[in-house]
Amino acid sequence: MTGSEWEGSGRSWRGGIALGAALVLALMLIALILRVSNAAHARDQAASAERHAYNVMLLVRGVGGSMARSEAALGRFILNGDPNVGTIYYDEWVDAGSQLDQLKALTHDDPDQAQLVAGLDLLYDQRGDELAQAAAQAAQRKGWQAVKLFSRAAESNTVPSITRSLVAIEQGQRQILATRAQQSQDLTSEANSFAYLLSLTGIALVLVAVGLGFATAYALAERRRSDALADEETGRAFSLESAVAERTRELSQTNRRLETEMAERAAAEAQLRQAQKMDAVGRLTGGIAHDFNNMLAVVVGGLELARRRLEKMGGGDEVTRQIDSAMEGAERAAALTRRLLGFARAEPLLPEGLDPAALIAGMLDMLDRTIGERVEIATEVAPDAWSVWVDKHQLENAILNLAVNARDAMAGHGRLLIALDNLALDDGEVGDAAAGDYVRIRVEDVGAGMSAAVLERVFEPFFTTKPAGQGTGLGLSQIFGFVRESQGEVAIRSTEGVGTAVSLYLPRYAGATASVDPIEPPLPANAPTGEPILLVEDDPRVLAATRGALEELGHRPVACESGTEALALLETRPDLRLIVTDVVMPGMTGPELIAAVRLQRPDIGALFVSGFVGEAGDATNLAGGELLRKPFTIAQLGRAVGDALAKLDAAAAPAPATARISAPRRARRAAAAG
Ligand code: ADP
Ligand code: MG
Repeated sequence: MTGSEWEGSGRSWRGGIALGAALVLALMLIALILRVSNAAHARDQAASAERHAYNVMLLVRGVGGSMARSEAALGRFILNGDPNVGTIYYDEWVDAGSQLDQLKALTHDDPDQAQLVAGLDLLYDQRGDELAQAAAQAAQRKGWQAVKLFSRAAESNTVPSITRSLVAIEQGQRQILATRAQQSQDLTSEANSFAYLLSLTGIALVLVAVGLGFATAYALAERRRSDALADEETGRAFSLESAVAERTRELSQTNRRLETEMAERAAAEAQLRQAQKMDAVGRLTGGIAHDFNNMLAVVVGGLELARRRLEKMGGGDEVTRQIDSAMEGAERAAALTRRLLGFARAEPLLPEGLDPAALIAGMLDMLDRTIGERVEIATEVAPDAWSVWVDKHQLENAILNLAVNARDAMAGHGRLLIALDNLALDDGEVGDAAAGDYVRIRVEDVGAGMSAAVLERVFEPFFTTKPAGQGTGLGLSQIFGFVRESQGEVAIRSTEGVGTAVSLYLPRYAGATASVDPIEPPLPANAPTGEPILLVEDDPRVLAATRGALEELGHRPVACESGTEALALLETRPDLRLIVTDVVMPGMTGPELIAAVRLQRPDIGALFVSGFVGEAGDATNLAGGELLRKPFTIAQLGRAVGDALAKLDAAAAPAPATARISAPRRARRAAAAG
């Protein structure tokens, strides 16, 4: 039993007793009141009985008196014969009779008295007759007779009988009176004592009431105190409960945070693993591409030389066709290698002025082949589309990636739109793009679209929703990087179940554009020839092919396989104005060689030939030299050598106008080659 329960039962116990006592007292009080009123009533009755007895006694005396006065008046009447006195006799007798009647009425409920009164009544009649005889004699003036009768009447025994009867009645009444008086006294004292008891009870009641009041006040105070205690307990329980709830909430929050942290850590670890994997893949791809380009340079060079020889010999068309198709294969291989390098991000941006409409037109065949026949490709190209200043291969790569994403979103079946238009943007109209003129390339599909959650993350590197092996999550992140580096912006509009449109905003370029025409322009007729050129290349087959190509172009190449050899050669050949060198070589790299040579001969020209501009050749190292990508055609080599020589001529003497036009463009390319 708890404290409050105990107190509660104690309280009810005390309350019960108090109530019982009050009830008993009240009952006693009611009984007393009844008793007192009974006693008062009895006393009143006794008093009235007393009064009654007095009345009876008075009447008894009255009867006796009237009879005595009547007899006395009769005596006088007999003697003097005065009629007035006779009237007194008569009246007094009648009066006694009526008093006797009253007495009868008063005593009829008391049998003893009634009997006595009845006896008295008989005696009254008897005596009346005796007196009436004497009175009649006197009235007839027979005085004597009357005296005789009167004195006989005086001797008659009715007189003592009447007296006895009167005394008996009076004595009876006295007896009754005494009893009544005693009774009345008893009752009065009883009533008094009851009244006394009553007042005592009243006092007791008042005391009990006061006690009850105190008890009630105490109980109320108790109740208030225990209520307060209970309130306090409830409050404590409530605050305990809310504290528990708070702790639980905190715990679950911590739990959630831990879970999120764990998930984030797992995701970060997965991302790191993926990044490391991609890094390794990138290195591997870069290395492979480098070797591949070297081999392709040999193949392309060899094929071209063979074709030229054949042409000179006036050889058969059949062989030329074979060589051309082999050449096409080699060029495709070169394009593939370039894409591989782009994917591995091993290739720096080489921006140039481009006509995007021509670029898109040139890509359509390849896109058709890549994304399959079941995807219909439509184009909406504005006829007056502006030029852009971007890396051509990267842009091609971006468009290809968008097309592949679109194909995947349409499950290989649907309509793909490539749109191109001009646009003047305000500051902040699209993403972070600054105000200005832009070319917009929009690739739109009718595929699955993206949820908001996916849309939010698409630019994250390695974010993909495609199953392992099908997506790398690098497509959009690369596009984003490339477009941002080109001062452009990417915007995506996508509705789930409806489709997606990805827009590339590329800043307008006001300068001239390079031709994206795959058909090579012929070498200018006035191209310089007979130039002594130092050729440095560590791969002997590439060296042989390049040397053959230079000879084919009419130059006089001096070949060597390393930087040290080249430095030694230059000592003895001051006539060498131009060095054509590989970039990545064991020992001394191409840029290192040029830097060393320029210490002695700052005016010497340099043309870098590279299959992979990766770690070994960053932009600063390539500064002051032209860059030719492997594999190259003889014509490309011829133009590159011609440009380099023209630049040397321009530096030596005031240049002709034509050289000025081409030189700055090439220089910009090299400067941006980082
Ligand atoms: P990947 O194609 O390797 O998954 P991307 O960076 O190209 O990587 O794309 C990332 C993700 O963005 C895709 O996995 C896909 O969920 C979503 N996505 C990209 N392009 C589209 C598109 N055209 N329609 C629907 N979802 C797309
Ligand atoms: Mg993709």
